[in-house]
Amino acid sequence: MSARPHYRASPCPASASAWGAPAPAEARPRALRFCVQLRLHFHFRSRGGQGRQQRHGPRATAVTSCYQCLLISLFRAFWKKVHYLLMMDFTFHSVPMKPADLLCGEARGSSSKMISLSIKRPLVTMSFLLSSLLMLLTVATPSWCQRSETTSPKASNRAPFPWNKMRLPEHITPVHYDLVIHANLTTLTFGGTTEIEITASKPTSTIVLHSHHLQISKAALRKGAGERQSLEPLRVLEYPPQEQIALLAPEPLVVGLPYTIVIDYAGNLSESFHGFYKSTYRTKEGEVRILASTQFEPTAARMAFPCFDEPAFKASFSIKIRREPRHLAISNMPLVKSVTVAEGLVEDHFDVTVKMSTYLVAFIVSDFKSVSKMTKSGVKVSVYAVPDKINQADYALDAAVTLLEFYEDYFSIPYPLSKQDLAAIPDFQSGAMENWGLTTYRESSLLFDAEKSSASSKLGITMTVSHELAHQWFGNLVTMEWWNDLWLNEGFAKFMEFVSVSVTHPELKVEDYFFDKCFNAMEVDALNSSHPVSTPVENPAQIREIFDEVSYEKGACILNMLRDYLGADAFKSGIVKYLQKYSYKNTKNEDLWNSMASICPTDGTQRMDGFCSRGEHSASSSHWRQEGLDVKTMMNTWTLQKGFPLITITVRGRNVHVKQEHYVKGPDDAPETGYLWHVPLTFITSNSDSVQRFLLKTRTDVLILPEEVEWIKFNVGMNGYYVVHYEDDGWDSLTGLLKGTHTAISSSDRASLINNAFQLVSIGKLSIEKALDLSLYLKHETEIMPVFQGLNELIPMYKLMEKRDVNEVETQFKAFLIGLLRDLIDKQTWTDGGAISERMLRSQLLLLACVRKYQPCVQKAEGYFRRWQEANGNLSLPSDVTLAVFAVGAQNPEGWDFLYSKYQSSLSSTEKNQIEFALCITHNKEKLQWLLEQSFKGDTIKTQEFPDILRAIGRNPVGYPLAWQFLRENWNKLVQKFELGSNSIAYMVMGTTNQFSTRARLEEVKEFFSSLKENGSQLRCVQQTIETIEENIRWMDKNFDKIRVWLQNEKLELL
Ligand SMILES: [Zn+2]
Repeated sequence: MSARPHYRASPCPASASAWGAPAPAEARPRALRFCVQLRLHFHFRSRGGQGRQQRHGPRATAVTSCYQCLLISLFRAFWKKVHYLLMMDFTFHSVPMKPADLLCGEARGSSSKMISLSIKRPLVTMSFLLSSLLMLLTVATPSWCQRSETTSPKASNRAPFPWNKMRLPEHITPVHYDLVIHANLTTLTFGGTTEIEITASKPTSTIVLHSHHLQISKAALRKGAGERQSLEPLRVLEYPPQEQIALLAPEPLVVGLPYTIVIDYAGNLSESFHGFYKSTYRTKEGEVRILASTQFEPTAARMAFPCFDEPAFKASFSIKIRREPRHLAISNMPLVKSVTVAEGLVEDHFDVTVKMSTYLVAFIVSDFKSVSKMTKSGVKVSVYAVPDKINQADYALDAAVTLLEFYEDYFSIPYPLSKQDLAAIPDFQSGAMENWGLTTYRESSLLFDAEKSSASSKLGITMTVSHELAHQWFGNLVTMEWWNDLWLNEGFAKFMEFVSVSVTHPELKVEDYFFDKCFNAMEVDALNSSHPVSTPVENPAQIREIFDEVSYEKGACILNMLRDYLGADAFKSGIVKYLQKYSYKNTKNEDLWNSMASICPTDGTQRMDGFCSRGEHSASSSHWRQEGLDVKTMMNTWTLQKGFPLITITVRGRNVHVKQEHYVKGPDDAPETGYLWHVPLTFITSNSDSVQRFLLKTRTDVLILPEEVEWIKFNVGMNGYYVVHYEDDGWDSLTGLLKGTHTAISSSDRASLINNAFQLVSIGKLSIEKALDLSLYLKHETEIMPVFQGLNELIPMYKLMEKRDVNEVETQFKAFLIGLLRDLIDKQTWTDGGAISERMLRSQLLLLACVRKYQPCVQKAEGYFRRWQEANGNLSLPSDVTLAVFAVGAQNPEGWDFLYSKYQSSLSSTEKNQIEFALCITHNKEKLQWLLEQSFKGDTIKTQEFPDILRAIGRNPVGYPLAWQFLRENWNKLVQKFELGSNSIAYMVMGTTNQFSTRARLEEVKEFFSSLKENGSQLRCVQQTIETIEENIRWMDKNFDKIRVWLQNEKLELL
């Protein structure tokens, strides 16, 4: 799955930042105090003797109580429900013990043991239980056991539900699904029959699987697979809290024999963005048309058909879709035949899929049109879109063909299907989804209008298509065993975006944007509320929550670091080996590292297939041989502990002292966490630009240089996932270098220095004055990434000031920022010329200048807007300047209304996003409120746009109280539509609150979210935003006066 790209209306970091900070700047946290102090207090106590007792105490109690409960439960089961039990086997008896199971250890294994014991020795068990009962009756039942009894699962019909865990039992395995689904786009309902061939590895008469919001009318069991034997009815129990059903057979299934379960059911097309859901679009003529599409990842396949909805239950699927003749159906596999089953009803039969997980199944019923091309190896690639937009499909089609060919070559594994469809869905929550053979996209992530689409939209589309196609191997062919290792899918797909596009579309220079992903991840990973890359999750909301920056961006960054360390060829042979070994299987973290551990580069030549290339491969490939390679130990330090290291460098003559500690935001007196990483350090010096390498495994170490140097720069190209601090005059030397000849180091290195300097301000290692002094070199900067990074650091500062009553300094600071970039702004042409990076830089700078009311820009933009309005929107504006022009035009009510009228008729996603963004920056509160209401309702502005609109208004200095109020008032509906734990919810929470910088707002935020209880208070994004606001307050208290004084410094007059 792809998150909504940051490239949208506000294509790149700076764009949104200019208005209030989307992209990287968006999550710029500025600290925490109170909350962390509380946590640390607890932490401290738990380290002491008393704390230890407290921690171990409950565990011991749990074990004892666990057995008591087990016995009590068994007795209750035997004595009170004998009539019921007679229908079941022992497996069934032993399951309704929720608390016992949960406390008796790691569910599956241990409960299986209990089950087999009761089967093999029923008499022994019986007598043991009887004597135990007597004993138990003499003592009071533990109070928590009584409590647990009241919470043991009860099916919808109040009968006991025979399973008490979120995860399904392992002893029934699906082998093949036959799905027949009839979508009725008139009644907005669907019905179907699901036949699942299963096998049992234990005798059991209970089959537990997933089903959510489906009305099951009939279930039956057939011995054998697909044979026409008689059906035996199955009793159905439903347990909505776990989204499960249990099918009860009259007698136990025989181990090893094939069985087929047959389930008839019906449901409503979902009004949300997941499951089998309704989408609509308006034709040029104004007619509203309906289609139905699927989004199953992570846990919504169960909303379309009953299934074993966990990634490790891989099976093959034969899918048949019934539809009206005027529609067409597409699915994972090519169409085999269509038959008319009734008057006005056609059934499409699709080919049998390869073995795959349920979350990758997909089908769409629509009136889409398509365009197609073949790859060199004969795979048919098609792009589907609504008829009015099919002329925008060509760019994605070509990109998909090129990228699919690239991956077949890079992975040395042929794409296993004969076709790949890419479909643009008018209503889509995330950016895209990698369903095998039928990837689905938000329209703006796939459709490219040669005339109106922006440079950043081209970059975004290419990256998104590349991401979803990478998943066809990473994720689809080889899948994580459980969602805790989601990063194996997402970190890799994110990483491969850069590996592939840097080769297939070198003109986009994607490698320039990579480190920005790492900065993004570090923003949340620096907080106490972060989590390890590989992290335990169980329920659907927790699963949705890890589709976050840590799984995607940090995952990609640590893979890039490993690749830089091993060398591109060695890394590649490791992943090819991994993919080959685990094709059609599931993996854990360690399977990847084991595949990596035994690779060696075969020669000293560097192939041009990667972006983190080194100068001299032969030299670099030997460094780790000498050091001894332990990929698993090294990478475990990055995946199993949260956060990242701060590396402190102290140069004493030729000696370079290095020290690592956990970089974590929070109060200055926070105790050490004791985390230690294996850090592949790289550095260059004033005397040598060849990259030196050193693996730091200990807390401190010393490197000896051949000679003394003027400056030293660590983390070359920002390939490592760590922050560097230069002690003594280390920062002064680097600032001197930037101000003198900044091109002596790469633009990535410049951007990383800017980032690191401000990161160090946050934790009190560097003064704000020094960081601001360093930023002054930007006066001479022309490259996109250092400029964007500067904006990402500086804009959030005035956004914090906007939330306090400090107008004078705020105005001065804004003027300083424009002064800093004035020369670069003045140099911009108002055209679409140049490389992608130049075009993106232009678009953002002009936008910033216009919003900050830099008059030369505003006047020019006003002229363009006037002419565009006079031509009734038919004048073709250079797409790079459109955002700035619209932003200026939206400042007066008439211009705003005109823009809105054009929004409704536009067929270009880029143009719509640009207009939407401009509409959100008005200072007219009524209009802002109206936008919130309209996009929430979803008639004229689609609800999929709501998170962006809410966030943009949340960044608007006049609008943010409205956005915050709206979020609070509509929380329950928002959670229904976008789902608890989803990335969209986190995006909205952070977007409306994480730039607050006052104690009053902090209290409001805490109060509101804690009042939500289980409907949101536990979300990680809530912790993140609270920590961030606390950081903001601390940061402002500490630095605001210093900034005020610094702004009056005479040095600034030079600007
Ligand atoms: Zn993905």
